Amino acid sequence: MPELEQAPQRGQAPQLGQAPQLEQAPQLEQALREVAAEMAERADRGDVASYIPQLSKIDPKKFGIAAVTNDGRVLTAGDADEAFSIQSISKVFTLTLALGNVGDALWQRVGREPSGNPFNSIVQLEHENGIPRNPFINAGAIVVSDILLAGHQPREAIGEILRFIQFLADDDTIIIDREVAASERATGFRNFALANYMKSFGNLNHAPELALGVYFHHCAIAMSCRQLALAGRFLANGGNNPATGHSVVSAERARRIGAMMLTCGHYDGSGDFAFRVGIPGKSGVGGGILGIVPGVASLAVWSPGLNANGNSRLGSIALEKLAKMMNWSIFAP
Ligand code: GLN
Repeated sequence: MPELEQAPQRGQAPQLGQAPQLEQAPQLEQALREVAAEMAERADRGDVASYIPQLSKIDPKKFGIAAVTNDGRVLTAGDADEAFSIQSISKVFTLTLALGNVGDALWQRVGREPSGNPFNSIVQLEHENGIPRNPFINAGAIVVSDILLAGHQPREAIGEILRFIQFLADDDTIIIDREVAASERATGFRNFALANYMKSFGNLNHAPELALGVYFHHCAIAMSCRQLALAGRFLANGGNNPATGHSVVSAERARRIGAMMLTCGHYDGSGDFAFRVGIPGKSGVGGGILGIVPGVASLAVWSPGLNANGNSRLGSIALEKLAKMMNWSIFAP
């Protein structure tokens, strides 16, 4: 049974009439409940990531979903309050922070094109002189971590990322799962290869192990669907936190981050996700997906089993069903 409550508010109360009331709220509540019930029954759950040993311990039966509407409702169903490893979803937040630090200069070191390759692929890097295709594949996110390291010790950069996410979700209890970070470091040979390779092209300013230290730790942030959907609110609301009215990024930047999510957020499955779901989304190998319905809601779903592209199998299906039931698509009239 989804819970219905007011989103927590930081600072000032939202101005009345700031966001139109979502007339579909009862429908949304019902849709979340139906989707969660259906997903609980399904046997085709995909395979939990095993290349990060700590993630292979997660129960594939878990399923959670949360929606935070721009008018302040928080609706959840299933295991929506259980924290999971957000992994690559963190790349949305590190990109946001890095753009805040260096602005469009970031795009000199990272591209903006879908890769059409797996998230940890190294092949394009040689042809493209160590410039990763986009900030959401591993190589691109490692460059973003390198940007966030400027003028900082790794510990400070990691703290800044965590505090930013806590601020966005208005929740100081969000933590980094250090066992997941250590587990990934111990087996992260490909990421070490990517970082060393980019360093050889001059596209890392710091030692590869320092940029990777930041990267492994932000991937290891643990959040529930509820916390994640709250953290994504600003992207659904033109760059403003709808609970406080405070600007996180400009409206233009929010649109551009959404465009990156739509075209690159699911790696070589990005086209299929756009085709089936029709909204910007960002996945992680922990089985989470953050989805944005611009002007309406921020969504988070979690089901640990992955499809062949390393995206949550049931999470993608759940968002496809939800979007269909609610008639949500950035291409809808
Ligand atoms: N930390 C993971 C890795 O580097 C992130 C991958 C993902 O979530 N797709 O492999």
